[in-house]
Amino acid sequence: MDQFFHELGLSEPLCRAIAQEGYEHPTPIQAQTIPAALAGKDCLGIAQTGTGKTAAFSLPILDRLKLAGKKAAPGRPLALVLAPTRELAIQIGDSFKTYGRHLPMRCACIFGGVSQVAQVAQLRRGVDILVATPGRLLDLINQRHVSLGDLQYFVLDEADRMLDMGFLPDLKRIIATLPKVRQSLFFSATMPPVIVELTHQLLDSPVVVNVAPKQVSVQKIDQQVLFLDRGERQDILRQLLSLEEVERAIVFTRTKRGASVVGDKLTRAGITAAVIHGNKSQSARQQALEAFRQKRVRVLVATDIAARGLDVDGISHVINFDLPNEPESYVHRIGRTARAGAAGIALSFCTPDEYDSLDAIERLIGRSITSLNARPAAASGLVTRAAPAGRSGRGAPAGGRGRSGRSGNSGSGRTGGSGGFGSKKPRRFAGSGAS
Ligand code: AMP
Repeated sequence: MDQFFHELGLSEPLCRAIAQEGYEHPTPIQAQTIPAALAGKDCLGIAQTGTGKTAAFSLPILDRLKLAGKKAAPGRPLALVLAPTRELAIQIGDSFKTYGRHLPMRCACIFGGVSQVAQVAQLRRGVDILVATPGRLLDLINQRHVSLGDLQYFVLDEADRMLDMGFLPDLKRIIATLPKVRQSLFFSATMPPVIVELTHQLLDSPVVVNVAPKQVSVQKIDQQVLFLDRGERQDILRQLLSLEEVERAIVFTRTKRGASVVGDKLTRAGITAAVIHGNKSQSARQQALEAFRQKRVRVLVATDIAARGLDVDGISHVINFDLPNEPESYVHRIGRTARAGAAGIALSFCTPDEYDSLDAIERLIGRSITSLNARPAAASGLVTRAAPAGRSGRGAPAGGRGRSGRSGNSGSGRTGGSGGFGSKKPRRFAGSGAS
């Protein structure tokens, strides 16, 4: 039976703000995390973006701060939320402001890549809830603009992403400055061993809420892989993105430079594209995102880091121009499509030097990705319809893998349906009547 927010124990000003947002019922992570957090318990949420996890931690923190009625001293926040990227930090800060609109709490967002002057001024005026990325926070702690000595609530969001981005040393330094007595809420989409260890260090008998089984997150996504040589990718990409059925696409590259090159080439080919990566200024990234959100550009070219937390509906295609180094990133990337129950297509380019990455991805998701096996020249046959997962003609990755013969194949791996691919047939890409 559906619950209501007031049944979770949240106070009236918060329930009012939630109603104004149009939320009727709590999501599963909210229903389980909010009562536990209101009771002062540590929580471990295994959940991805899109599950409602931001409200799951921000609502109880706002409620408890309101109840305590204490105001933060200058530079000494009462609650800290750490997020891996500026985009995510801004989204979280906005959520606190939205949900806390009927409360007097002061919230600030600090991140790198912009001058620290305004952030320091805001901290001096007193900030109850601080949302921060690790690097800038550590800078400001070292400069004594911030002290975590009064902290009562600590949230670590997207912990696995922090790890991917190399934030672990910064994170450990920040954690070392936290008071021993505090409440901690920890969120991660995946739980690699280092993250499990971190939860042991940070959390005290946590309530564990798991709402992100991997197979659920990728179920509606039609996953395809195309084998090709490095030099062919730009051309194929351009052809693909010229197709009408590609309504809105994100193209992922592994490097910032790669993103810029791809974006430039698409623009020169007359395909409207915006680029976001870590070397772009904050305002340039926001402008690019806005252009994509408002459909002024059809394609967003992004690195993993820049696209974290990105929440844009109606993305019909995710294209992996390069495969990610970390297989978990694949799941995050393709999760940008098939939002809100819609179907989506995720197409990965795979060059001969990326076979190991593909194997690792298939091991993680527990199944084969449908290979298209088409020659690049046949790229115009991309079909719009998304198929249910698991329709690949190949066997499970664990045994009898069609592609296992790949290592002995010194060619590009594009076989056109023969040699080492078993009974697979190109399903959607080939112009030759793929069904
Ligand atoms: P998050 O996973 O925190 O990034 O949230 C994903 C989206 O779901 C955000 O756009 C929220 O505004 C929205 N949302 C969060 N909780 C609810 C709810 N209980 N009902 C409807 N929408 C929600």
